[in-house]
Amino acid sequence: MRRLAKAIDGLDEPAVEKIARDQKEDPFQVLIATMLSAQTKDAVTASASSRLFRVARTPGSMAKLSEARIEELIYPVSFYRNKAVHVKDTCRQILTRFGGRVPTTMEELLTLPGVGRKTANLVLILAHASRKNICVDTHVHRISNRLGWVQTRTPDETEHALYLAAPRRFWPLINLYLVTWGQNVCRPVYPLCPQCVLVDICPRIGVTKVGKLVKG
Ligand code: SF4
Repeated sequence: MRRLAKAIDGLDEPAVEKIARDQKEDPFQVLIATMLSAQTKDAVTASASSRLFRVARTPGSMAKLSEARIEELIYPVSFYRNKAVHVKDTCRQILTRFGGRVPTTMEELLTLPGVGRKTANLVLILAHASRKNICVDTHVHRISNRLGWVQTRTPDETEHALYLAAPRRFWPLINLYLVTWGQNVCRPVYPLCPQCVLVDICPRIGVTKVGKLVKG
């Protein structure tokens, strides 16, 4: 993790991390951006979030938008129709059940439509400054297994295994470090092992082909 901390300096950070920083860790915007980011490229998440937040930045104003209008604003994120339904419903529930504030516990966050453990963990880490959560997406799941930190089949299993395998001080940072590394070096196919700062300590479990060295 210490090597990765140095190595990611200067690389593009994940879209939701950037949105969280730009919006001063606003829990509502972190929640909505994370919902939009599922199975969507970072550039698409960033532009869709910014279009949506230009029109509505609070649960109250977003709940007033029609699903069709939300769809139009967030297109082309993956599953934009489902996500528009979930975004509107989530806004309504935040207003009616939580007094207009994004919940601060895993249990409550998981009751919101379209919110799973990945989204809930990221909101707790980025918007509520939790040091007790690990957010696992496909990058974290893949790289943790390649490195041999865990031996798991699903992101949920990886999350629970990492609580046992990773030192507690790194829990809130694992997502930032591994997602950034996964987008730039330890890619899903053809990871750039020859350029990786972990190559001498990584058992590269499951890696059969590596990408070409990029000069410069
Ligand atoms: S050495 Fe290869 S498999 Fe291991 S972390 Fe680096 S890029 Fe990923």
